[in-house]
Amino acid sequence: MSKEPYAFCPRCARALGERTLVDVDGVATVRRACTEECGFVQWGNPTPCVGALVEHEGEIILARNRGWPPGFFALVTGYLEAQEDPREAVAREVREELGLEVAASHLIGNYIFEAKNEVMLCYHAIATGTVRLGAELAEYRRYPPERLRPWKRATGLAVADWMRSRGLPFEWLDRPPLDTAPERT
Ligand SMILES: [Zn+2]
Repeated sequence: MSKEPYAFCPRCARALGERTLVDVDGVATVRRACTEECGFVQWGNPTPCVGALVEHEGEIILARNRGWPPGFFALVTGYLEAQEDPREAVAREVREELGLEVAASHLIGNYIFEAKNEVMLCYHAIATGTVRLGAELAEYRRYPPERLRPWKRATGLAVADWMRSRGLPFEWLDRPPLDTAPERT
């Protein structure tokens, strides 16, 4: 479930409550829902996002969002636009946030980010051009691939899987969880 249950139905504006719903297999689950007549259910499905492990001139670029504490660097991420192909979303985010053009992208994997109820669709993106930071980022760092240290959460797991696929040994980075969610823009 989302961290923010709706108070009111977005369809008919009645107050939502906890209701027991029974599916076709007879399994009962408590959901946040409107009346039977309206039929709205807040399923709380995870929101899909893309993450880009950006390779530029042989190095990997990790970025720090403005809302993150010093020392937190991760993949360039963003929400998909309506009907947008994930690969196009990756190219758009890399262009918006780093000013780079993606020449090729390859899926690394998909990862749940429980804290924000998001699914991260993570790509290795090979990019060209000159870095120009977008409004969402505070700073970035460049790493030779063998110097990356993944963290055990969300996009960090993509970094680890990418390093494994390259045969690069690594040590996990131990870092505290982020409790402030980056602003959605
Ligand atoms: Zn309703």
